[in-house]
Amino acid sequence: MKEKSAKPKWWEQGVRFECQGSGRCCVSRGQYGFVYLTAEDRKRMGRLLKISTGEFTRKYCGKTDGVFHLKDGTGPDCIFLKNNRCEVYEARPIQCRTWPFWPEVMNAKTWAKEVAAFCPGVGKGDYVNAQDIRATLELQKKWEDDLVHGR
Ligand code: SF4
Repeated sequence: MKEKSAKPKWWEQGVRFECQGSGRCCVSRGQYGFVYLTAEDRKRMGRLLKISTGEFTRKYCGKTDGVFHLKDGTGPDCIFLKNNRCEVYEARPIQCRTWPFWPEVMNAKTWAKEVAAFCPGVGKGDYVNAQDIRATLELQKKWEDDLVHGR
């Protein structure tokens, strides 16, 4: 029997996106509020800060429903956001690297209504091609899998 081909994605022709450095994805954003961390994220960030993974976890992490995330600071912003800049940019968590190409928001409706309203990078700069979008979605999916399995 002939295999049914997958329906082309709305983003197959690419999507215009360029980070505008607004820092909006680094401030509390309701359902996307926590910055979750896998063991690899914590290790990489600890290395940048020249502390062990254990020390990084004790100092900067909380755990909700068995999943690590960055601790809340005094306000709604990420504890590593200072003067609108990420203090751990080179080692930032995967979820910060892959935003806004997350599986849960890469549907035409959510992208147009929620992501575009929230993120000023949508519709700016060059087209991000489908190959790069697919690779980022895969990276984010693998990261989510590591997260739920405590890796
Ligand atoms: S770790 Fe850096 S990029 Fe990620 S939310 Fe915090 S300030 Fe933003």
